[in-house]
Amino acid sequence: MAAWTGEALIEAPVIIRPQVGGIAFVDELPTDRGVGNALLHRGRRPARDTRGRPMFGVVHTNRQRRAMRKLLCHVCGNDADRTDLGVLWLLDNTAANCPPGWPEEELTVHPPLCLGCAAQAARQCPELEKKGFTALRVRDPQPYGYRGKLYARNLDRHASPFPILARGTENLAFLDPLLPWLLAAQSILCLVGCTIVDLGAELAAGGVR
Ligand SMILES: [Zn+2]
Repeated sequence: MAAWTGEALIEAPVIIRPQVGGIAFVDELPTDRGVGNALLHRGRRPARDTRGRPMFGVVHTNRQRRAMRKLLCHVCGNDADRTDLGVLWLLDNTAANCPPGWPEEELTVHPPLCLGCAAQAARQCPELEKKGFTALRVRDPQPYGYRGKLYARNLDRHASPFPILARGTENLAFLDPLLPWLLAAQSILCLVGCTIVDLGAELAAGGVR
């Protein structure tokens, strides 16, 4: 899911749609629209010769959205692991830090994992180690909304066709009335049907060490 240094960001300026409001690309294509008719961030161009190196912490937006749609592992891009209890997720939090009922209906922008990458992440990811993590099986992950940049009309310039950036990061549900003003970068899933599991036991059952 990380972007690579060889993948150039696609710069696509946005304008306000005449009459209806909301944002649009100047050269918009039907493929630029997602769920709820949200305008989708165009992501990055495929690397021309070499991909370079991964930039951890920089999300490749269309890869993230694809991983969420198809429930692919967010490290290697293969199918995420699935058992009768559902798809495997690692959350960088623990029940002790959260209100009762957590993580049922938790909203996340992190795609699930395969067993091999989960084992590696639990061993190597300093962020997970620091905050503690929880392994989950999720029976019914449901599309919820998008995370992206929120734009607004420029009230200082009457009838300007150019929006201003209102918020660098905003999470909106598909039904949110502000959705037409969001440049949707990442998909948000709602984790429904959660069972907390022991990662060691899951790895052993899957034959992964
Ligand atoms: Zn993987």
